[in-house]
Amino acid sequence: MREAIVEQTVKTYFTDKFPQFSVSQQCEIQFGTRHGIADVVLHQPIRNEKGYFVAIAECKKWPLPILRGRAKAQLKSYMSATNTRYGVLAVGTDPRNWDFCENKYNNWFAEIEREDFEKGIENWRPVSAKALTVNLRETTARWWKRIALIFGVLFFVSIASLLFLWPDPPEPIVYITRTGKKYHTYTCEFLVERGVEKFAIYFDEAEKNYDPCGICDPDRTAQSR
Ligand SMILES: [Zn+2]
Repeated sequence: MREAIVEQTVKTYFTDKFPQFSVSQQCEIQFGTRHGIADVVLHQPIRNEKGYFVAIAECKKWPLPILRGRAKAQLKSYMSATNTRYGVLAVGTDPRNWDFCENKYNNWFAEIEREDFEKGIENWRPVSAKALTVNLRETTARWWKRIALIFGVLFFVSIASLLFLWPDPPEPIVYITRTGKKYHTYTCEFLVERGVEKFAIYFDEAEKNYDPCGICDPDRTAQSR
């Protein structure tokens, strides 16, 4: 039961010192296929969820029944698994026997003094959230650059093919007869009814030497092409 008293001491310490955060006991922590129980957790007050873990306390009775190094390793594995910045190995109820540590960056741990622990939590930020966000943003930017480049190239290729490979629109063609002075459309009623032989010529040419037929209106047809 001694360990429960240590837990209670840590809980009181957390609650008194850091009222801006919430305290939970016996939090299950998943790492890979294994799981463990963090004795006391200081976390963001988020309804229905734990939010970010600010600090984890591993509580042991005094004198420590296992090697201090082993207890610290356990605490650090919980901190790594949950990306928690601060940790306490609370051995007994006397804070002078407690060890404080900080997950400085990417699970690089440093032993720190209690004052630094308390000051750190006052200015707490998620452990590597900033680094994570920056990495994410950089990756995103890299992908956007690639996508932009691909679209840029595609755009250039399409414009180039439009300019160089697109066939010129066919020149408008109208029809004349052997003896007539007018030019016509292919489907001109006047020509079809009489079954007159017709010859195709370019509109430009026809315009210079002939007049448009009043029945089929070849100018309108030519211009709409
Ligand atoms: Zn005509």
